[in-house]
Amino acid sequence: RRSSLLRPHGLRVSRDFAPRRFVRHIASSTNEEAAARTAAATADTGGPTIFDKIIAKEIPSSIVYEDEKVLAFRDINPQAPVHVLVIPKLRDGLTGLDKAEPRHAEILGQLLYAAKVVAEKEGVADGFRVVINNGAEGCQSVYHLHVHVLGGRQN
Ligand code: 5GP
Repeated sequence: RRSSLLRPHGLRVSRDFAPRRFVRHIASSTNEEAAARTAAATADTGGPTIFDKIIAKEIPSSIVYEDEKVLAFRDINPQAPVHVLVIPKLRDGLTGLDKAEPRHAEILGQLLYAAKVVAEKEGVADGFRVVINNGAEGCQSVYHLHVHVLGGRQN
């Protein structure tokens, strides 16, 4: 029987990385929802997040890709052999995808394009997944929009 991971940060991904299980496992569990609600209660305030320190390089991260607008770095708690977070360097109100406005369309496209570049750089362009957790009910834990790029495991 395949096992799954329940992460303190809220993104839950099956170890086998099969698409249907992935979607189901990401959806919900009592613990991850509780953790995300706790994070939401304190984090979706527009205040600084840990990602600000990563952008400022005040704390180290393993950077995979960087340009003027976007930073991509390895997740500290990877759920797949390749697990990279792609974030806008300027949050501009995008604590989550639900805050997107028409003026964000360009950066949203740049994030997705960067996800594709990351997948190529990481050698998983033939098979990868892109995930955005949104809000407490979506098990978001860091309130600076980020795209998870996951790949590298085939069953
Ligand atoms: P979320 O649960 O909000 O969708 O994803 C937040 C992600 O940020 C989690 O997967 C978590 O592991 C990652 N994360 C949290 N803090 C850090 C950190 O300090 N460094 C890195 N590289 N990733 C982090």
